[in-house]
Amino acid sequence: MYAGIEAGGTKFNCIIAEDPQNILTETRIPTTTPHETLTNVIDFFLKEALSRNVTLKSLGIGSFGPLDLNKQSPHYGCITSTPKTAWQNVNIVKELEDRLHLPVELDTDVNAAALGELCWGAGQGWQNILYITIGTGIGGGAIIAGKPYHGLLHPEMGHIFLTQSSTKDNFKGVCPYHSHCFEGLASGPALKAQWGQDAALIESHHPAWDQEAFYIAQALSIYISILSPEIIILGGGVMQQTHLFPLIRTKVIELLNGYLQTPAILENIEHYIVPPGLGTQSGVLGAIALARSLDA
Ligand SMILES: [Zn+2]
Repeated sequence: MYAGIEAGGTKFNCIIAEDPQNILTETRIPTTTPHETLTNVIDFFLKEALSRNVTLKSLGIGSFGPLDLNKQSPHYGCITSTPKTAWQNVNIVKELEDRLHLPVELDTDVNAAALGELCWGAGQGWQNILYITIGTGIGGGAIIAGKPYHGLLHPEMGHIFLTQSSTKDNFKGVCPYHSHCFEGLASGPALKAQWGQDAALIESHHPAWDQEAFYIAQALSIYISILSPEIIILGGGVMQQTHLFPLIRTKVIELLNGYLQTPAILENIEHYIVPPGLGTQSGVLGAIALARSLDA
């Protein structure tokens, strides 16, 4: 059995599992102070493993960030410049490794979700996939040639700059760092700031969705041009509005304007831009996939 954590800004989803068919137990622990949350996480794994008489082989963590993922860096395993100030410079790898005595593999929440989808979800059979979450925040994880992509730091796909949907629109977005970035314009809080209600409560025929689809399609067109993914998986709270999918697909085709001649986009886009195969479990099962990657 493996331990997995999807570490988010509001809760830590913890799971003991082998794969999606063999889930032993799972729980949600609120994200409060690092000391309190990590103590509760450690208690959960130790007590559950003991009472169920299972040995945990390793731990995978998909975390909010930004993160230091460079294994040569003295700060490897740290959450870095997060707006959640209590968590700045917390080394979650070291804390959990020391107290659980398990090997730990860390990646971004979205890279973990992408890996989960690659192993067991909509990304099965592909080598180059993109997972984008559109919810409280916006982020993207990429699997390139079968492996989670990092680079210099790790991609921050929510913070690319987009063209406004209308020249009359004065809304600059809700991101504290940038004007007109994807997360600032199209996250759940951005929808609320623009339209005055929670995304979940905005009716499906409201003009908010046409604008939302335009922003998401712009971002996807950029990712398609740069990374050429074989499939794009869209998850997160805002994407629970499934009526967005056909709007986004139509706008991606319009924006690319016939330049990319591939049946995946021109004929079968409903199989190219898709919801997660693992539903809302991509992240936490992705953490199990990260733990399992230590076996290889
Ligand atoms: Zn931004």
